[in-house]
Amino acid sequence: MTLFPDVVGDMLCESILGRGQERGFIRIECHQIRDFTKNKQRQVDDYPYGGGRGCVMLAQPLYDCWKFICDEAGKQVHTIFLSPCGKVFRQDDARRLQSEFDRLILVCGRYEGVDERFIEECVDEEISIGDYVLTGGEIPAMVLADAVCRLVPGVLPDEECFTDESHWNGLLEYPQYTRPEVWRDRAVPGVLLSGHHENIANWRREQSLERTGLRRPDMGQ
Ligand code: SAM
Repeated sequence: MTLFPDVVGDMLCESILGRGQERGFIRIECHQIRDFTKNKQRQVDDYPYGGGRGCVMLAQPLYDCWKFICDEAGKQVHTIFLSPCGKVFRQDDARRLQSEFDRLILVCGRYEGVDERFIEECVDEEISIGDYVLTGGEIPAMVLADAVCRLVPGVLPDEECFTDESHWNGLLEYPQYTRPEVWRDRAVPGVLLSGHHENIANWRREQSLERTGLRRPDMGQ
């Protein structure tokens, strides 16, 4: 649910997620909240009660848009409001959302946010993509959709594409190299050219542990 469906739709139709949609593994639909307004000006926001800067998104068009999607789905769809006040999004959340739900509604706020009563009435969880404030929820929604959709079976060629990556098992990924063997006097670590699978796996594990310890000592190992 967004005021900028074209931007979100275009972005999520590209590359791996685009192919995932073409092949029917995922489906991403963008709904224009403004289409659900009931006033002549198609206004979606108004001044905040109590005063203060900016405007707040009206509960009514948000609710009607949300209800339209739930009615189409024939059930109350798990609903996430992207918000800097939410729980910070992590890989574990992407995993949980992919495995627990076959559909999600992502609500993108704009302006100063949305009327709290819509959140109380329709939202199951609030998710933030980090401790900073953006102008709208579209980029956060795309982040969440991308992180969740790439875990849907079939979207990536096989499971290792994501189980072997940073954050899956509480570690950062080891360094990666490709051709040529030497670039600007920097050589690829010899073990990667050895063809010895066990030594390569051990080296990668050590690199992962070292990198995680140095860069993210807060991550549990
Ligand atoms: N007044 C709000 C506050 O102080 O918490 C910020 C509103 S922000 C300018 C407009 C919208 O962008 C929010 O309603 C939310 O949907 C989205 N947004 C901004 N930063 C975000 C973040 N870190 N994570 C998720 N959504 C965010």
